Amino acid sequence: MYVCKGYAAQSADTPLAPFSFERRDPGPTDVQIDILYCGVCHSDIHTARSEWGPSMYPVVPGHEIVGRVAAVGREVRKFKPGDLAGVGCLVDSCRRCPSCREGLEQYCENGFTGTYGTPDLKLPGKPTFGGYSKSIVVEEAFVLRIPENLPLAGVAPLLCAGITTYSPLRHWKVTRGHKVGVVGLGGLGHMALKLAHAMGAEVTLFTTSPGKAVDAQRLGADHVVVSTDPEAMRGQASKFDFILDCVSARHDINAYLALLKRDATLVQVGAPPEPLPVNVIGLIFSRRRFAGSLIGGIAETQEMLDFCSKHGIVSDIEMIGVGEINDAYERVIAGKVKYRFVIDLQSL
Ligand code: NAP
Ligand code: ZN
Ligand code: ZN
Repeated sequence: MYVCKGYAAQSADTPLAPFSFERRDPGPTDVQIDILYCGVCHSDIHTARSEWGPSMYPVVPGHEIVGRVAAVGREVRKFKPGDLAGVGCLVDSCRRCPSCREGLEQYCENGFTGTYGTPDLKLPGKPTFGGYSKSIVVEEAFVLRIPENLPLAGVAPLLCAGITTYSPLRHWKVTRGHKVGVVGLGGLGHMALKLAHAMGAEVTLFTTSPGKAVDAQRLGADHVVVSTDPEAMRGQASKFDFILDCVSARHDINAYLALLKRDATLVQVGAPPEPLPVNVIGLIFSRRRFAGSLIGGIAETQEMLDFCSKHGIVSDIEMIGVGEINDAYERVIAGKVKYRFVIDLQSL
């Protein structure tokens, strides 16, 4: 065991503050990574504040991690000290159930081990601790190769915001000519614009923030609709092949279900803490579908990183020191980040 420095929430209503904790020394199949950058996901806030139900404290958030390999166990083959490496939302799973065998570790039927805030099966009684910290030790099978051609800090958010939007776009086979709607221009939403655009779709952003329209077009939107304008929304009825809803708070999803063509699908990736009522009549009459999607498996995350490398895609970031994290949370909640905060861990 060794002592690692990090930043933690000790309860739902205390700000994040410095915290030291123990990590395991790397075992035979482990990779130890010195963390360079970690993105700030809205899920970090939901978890730090127990918004999805009681969290396991202390919470050291952070699941958009890039860094350099410091040490590897004797059986590790894919990484050596000095390599770049990434860690997303998963650090382990059962690896035996049907979902794991299909490379869908995020749907592990025995429960995956999250990068933070889930029981650490290797340190019984403790939660896993995430990337708002100096280093992390992860099983090789859950460590990603990081492309060398992209700016490193902008790669970090691909590990959650990137894969969470890439996976449903791929699963629902979005391609050239499809009309795609993206709801909410935050961390996930801005990656959805870039990825759907790179896949050849005609992309419309729905936003509550008219001031984000110019950025949206730069990020890949062909059209921008201000969702608080009822007339503009009516004009979009039944036009979309696919809609990806990236909103973090309660909102009216029926306004977006009405924009789907017959047989088209709205996928919810935004995870508001409260239930969202669905108008089933709107689904029934056009055989529309409402679905959810959780991050992506390890193989697909690697595929997404390689796709971003090929297309030159990274996140648009605002870099912060770890001491600015509590102010950053308030700006994320206010929808005022452009478009992802990334912590420079040299500041810790
Ligand atoms: P974010 O950066 O805060 O973006 C959320 C965006 O939603 C805001 O920028 C805003 O966009 C819009 N919004 C916020 N409050 C709203 C409201 N009251 N009504 C309407 N629109 C509102 O958050 P994020 O990091 O992208 O995460 C988004 C959600 O996805 C979170 O709930 C997060 O937990 C979840 N998530 C899910 C997965 C998954 O696997 N499914 C993975 C990661 C994150 P506009 O200003 O453009 O309206
Ligand atoms: Zn996330
Ligand atoms: Zn499994």
